[in-house]
Order: sequence, then C-alpha cells, then structure tokens
Amino acid sequence: MSRRSDSGRDPSPSEWAEAERIAALHPLQQQDHPTAVPADPARLVHVNTYGALPTFYIDRPFICRRCGKREIWRARDQKWFYEEAGGHIDARAVECYTCRKAKRKGDTQP
Ligand SMILES: [Zn+2]
Repeated sequence: MSRRSDSGRDPSPSEWAEAERIAALHPLQQQDHPTAVPADPARLVHVNTYGALPTFYIDRPFICRRCGKREIWRARDQKWFYEEAGGHIDARAVECYTCRKAKRKGDTQP
C-alpha cells in the first residue's frame, strides 16, 4: 500500500472509508486499533472538563463546514493539538486545512 501523503488533508476514497469505519467502532476496539495514539494524562492537566479525559486519539474524518471538503484529522495531530498546543478537549476540527490557512491570512474566500 503506497500513499502519496498521510497528512489527512487529501484522503483517497479508501482512506476516507477506512477512517469512517474506525470512527464507528466501539471505543474499546478503537483503543486497540493500530492507528490509535495513546493520550498522556499528565499533558492534559490544563483541560477543564466535566467529561472524562481521553485515553487515546483516533483518526477523525470530518467534512469542512466552509467548503465541504473531506479531511481526516489524524490522531497524532489531535495529540499535538490537545497536549502541545493546549487546545480545549471539546474543540474539534470543523474546517479543512485550506480554509483554516485562508482564515489566518484574513481572507474570506479560500
Ligand atoms: Zn474547507
């Protein structure tokens, strides 16, 4: 299996289908999945939540709310976002990379 890129920004139909399949699994099955990335609770102390902290991250397929593009938010990127960048645990990727980049530049059109 060869991949041009596994950033999740431009998933092939099979990558997308696989990510959707994994996302629909029971959490216990996700946790044991080879693509799951373990969470480090010590790095999540900044998180203020009434819910349980995650014990792992799994690839999350999503559709950009601005342009409708399909992207996969990779488990390793979630780990970085929550544990390194201090992102809120309830925050989810809702816009694709292109739209987020355009917004940072202050453009309204990608
Ligand atoms: Zn977009």
